[in-house]
Amino acid sequence: MANTPGSQVQSGQPAGTGDRPVSTDHWMSELGALLRELEDVTSAGAVLPPVVSEQTDNQLVQVRLGTASSLFSALQCKHAATAGHALRVALTCSAWALRMRLRQEQRDAIEIAALLHDVGVIGVPDRILLKPGLLDPDEAAVVARSRHMSLEIIRQSCNSPEILDIVEHVPAWYDDSRPGFRLAGPDLPLGARMIAIVEAFDSMTTDHVYRPAMSHERAMTELFDCAGTQFDPELVGQFAELLDADQAELHREVAQRWLRSLDPELVNSRWQLNCVPSQSSQPTIDALFQAKLLDNMYDAVVFIDAGGQVSLWNHGAERLTGISGSSVVQRQWHPDLLNVSDEKGNPVDEPDCPVTCAIRSGVQSLRRLAIRGRTGQPVSVDTHAIPVLAPDRTTLGAILLFHDASSEISLEERCQNLHEKATRDPLTQVANRAEFDRVHETFLAAHQQQQLPCSLMICDLDRFKLVNDTYGHQAGDEVIKSLTTLLKGSCRPGDLVARYGGEEFVMLCADCDNAAAARRAEQIRRTLSQMPQPKMAGRPVTVSFGVTEIQPGDTPETMLRRADRALLTAKAKGRNNVIQLGTGRRGELADPPAAFRHRKKARSNQLIEQVLVTPVPIKIAIEKLRGFVADHRAKIVKIDGNHVRLEIDDKHPGRLRRLTDRPVTFCVDLRFEEERIHKDPTDPSSGGLLRTKIQFSISTRKNRDRRRNDVSNRARQVLVSFRSYLMASEEEGRPQKGALRRAKRILTPWLAR
Ligand code: GH3
Ligand code: MG
Ligand code: MG
Repeated sequence: MANTPGSQVQSGQPAGTGDRPVSTDHWMSELGALLRELEDVTSAGAVLPPVVSEQTDNQLVQVRLGTASSLFSALQCKHAATAGHALRVALTCSAWALRMRLRQEQRDAIEIAALLHDVGVIGVPDRILLKPGLLDPDEAAVVARSRHMSLEIIRQSCNSPEILDIVEHVPAWYDDSRPGFRLAGPDLPLGARMIAIVEAFDSMTTDHVYRPAMSHERAMTELFDCAGTQFDPELVGQFAELLDADQAELHREVAQRWLRSLDPELVNSRWQLNCVPSQSSQPTIDALFQAKLLDNMYDAVVFIDAGGQVSLWNHGAERLTGISGSSVVQRQWHPDLLNVSDEKGNPVDEPDCPVTCAIRSGVQSLRRLAIRGRTGQPVSVDTHAIPVLAPDRTTLGAILLFHDASSEISLEERCQNLHEKATRDPLTQVANRAEFDRVHETFLAAHQQQQLPCSLMICDLDRFKLVNDTYGHQAGDEVIKSLTTLLKGSCRPGDLVARYGGEEFVMLCADCDNAAAARRAEQIRRTLSQMPQPKMAGRPVTVSFGVTEIQPGDTPETMLRRADRALLTAKAKGRNNVIQLGTGRRGELADPPAAFRHRKKARSNQLIEQVLVTPVPIKIAIEKLRGFVADHRAKIVKIDGNHVRLEIDDKHPGRLRRLTDRPVTFCVDLRFEEERIHKDPTDPSSGGLLRTKIQFSISTRKNRDRRRNDVSNRARQVLVSFRSYLMASEEEGRPQKGALRRAKRILTPWLAR
């Protein structure tokens, strides 16, 4: 194709068949003028004027093409300049063929091929064809593909293999350096080699919007430069001779040939519908499968070429958008066509459109967008834009897939609603107890693994029954909500507030030790106690808190029970206060390496035996044992002097991960001895601190459980927890005189309680 401006050719009467009789002299002079103009123009570099006359051009073409002249007319309508270029190339090739004394049929074939070699320009978008500047590589690729379109168009109705061969090979390079052609070098059809030279010369010597015409000599130099690579070198030489030859003689011969009316039957015999097998009219089995697949896909599939034109709009696209394929194919794609908007409802403009991005960047993209559906309402769609690249990496266009996501969205919404219902408390919108239990376990595990502190607050409104009874249930609800607001306001990232039940709330405080958690609880307690409650005639309410920090050997249950014990203590101490229990992670630091140093005893089901020391008198040690017993729900099965036997049903529901994880019952044997550490070890009367030594032994109640790996791990956890509750570490020491008696005296009444 050559962008040759200036020619204005319109359809007219066929030569020799019009109503108006035309004299041969008249034709001769008109055609002679045309050829002179061509020569003048190409040598002077002037703008090409309209070809001789609109009618004459068409008559010349119709004589040569017969029925197929409608193809040429179509090209004229699309881009008259290209049609003018084709006519000039055909006339020049005709003169050259005459000079070469080629066979009549060969000359006919060359002339016809020259007239139609650029008919594929019909398929080039005007945006590219009329572009004032130079084409970018993708646009140039569209123009280059128009050559293939020429062949496809002609193939539909031409049954002359000779013409088809010439048209096919016009763009081929003589040295075979342009891929995609069957033939090369002297095997290329002669007509193709001639047209390639003539059309290059015509294009170079014609003015274009993007480049002025070159001089005759300069264009010839270019042809010689490309002789042997792009062009047949011998023919380039011949063409140079042709331009130097006696032009008057040539014109006379060409005019005689082109003005002679040809036998219409002979001319038309070259044209017959579908007489030549065509690639596009005989789709491969693969193509049939692909077409069937595209048509039956539920998802919308749209093909958009590099020029932005819609080239395919499948049934899925029709169903989703309500726009028929026939009305949209060959229209320019624009996101406004479907009111494309993002998830927030903002319109997607062209630079941000997935199609533009895919064509521009060559990268595919997945996005959830909304388009106008068939009812006119927005429909959520998952869009997948896929660039399509030629083997030489130029962009051929993009495929756009739309998957209707509205059902998934409603499913996601429904899941979200169900999840909210399952995990949220409807009155306060904080997590419910089930959600707390679930989060608590993972929360604890994560903090244990990272060796970070974390705390648990549990709070309960004071004398709330009275609030309900006095001011009504609704007022009670408002009070509950105001406590929730304070708790939520105290939350930091990673924390969780949950309604544990009634007017009782829990709060998990991430990466927070017991002192910080107690300070936060204190702040909430104070604020609530000073907050007038509108539904209670402006009177405030109070709340009690139990606070604890995670400590070694904790399970979710032991931590929760300890916090609950702290809350009960707060209530017992008169309400409206904060009580903190537990040693926190410091207990872990007391004697870390000793934590798992233990001796195994000969008793068959014994797991661990260890001698521990806690730096408190036995009375306090026993108080601490109370906490351990309460939080582990331990059963006291035996008291014998200073010996206590406990049984712990270690269910650990949170840790029951495998079917083989059966609950196990541990027996914990404890022997307490109080001893005094004298200031002067050599002088028993020198006074000093009392401390308690504990012989700790843990075994399984059933012997067969002992061999289970998980059981010994859990036994270790019980030991770790015990040490933490009792603030005990491993230490050897000799019992002091009288200590045993004192242990018995304290243990017996406590255990009797
Ligand atoms: P204490 O200081 O010992 O906690 O005294 P209390 O009156 O708060 O005792 P208790 O915990 O036994 O009473 C809780 C009351 O909370 C009983 C119940 O009617 C009320 N309650 C539980 N849930 C709600 C609720 O959603 N709304 C209202 N208004 N009241 C509730
Ligand atoms: Mg209460
Ligand atoms: Mg309560």
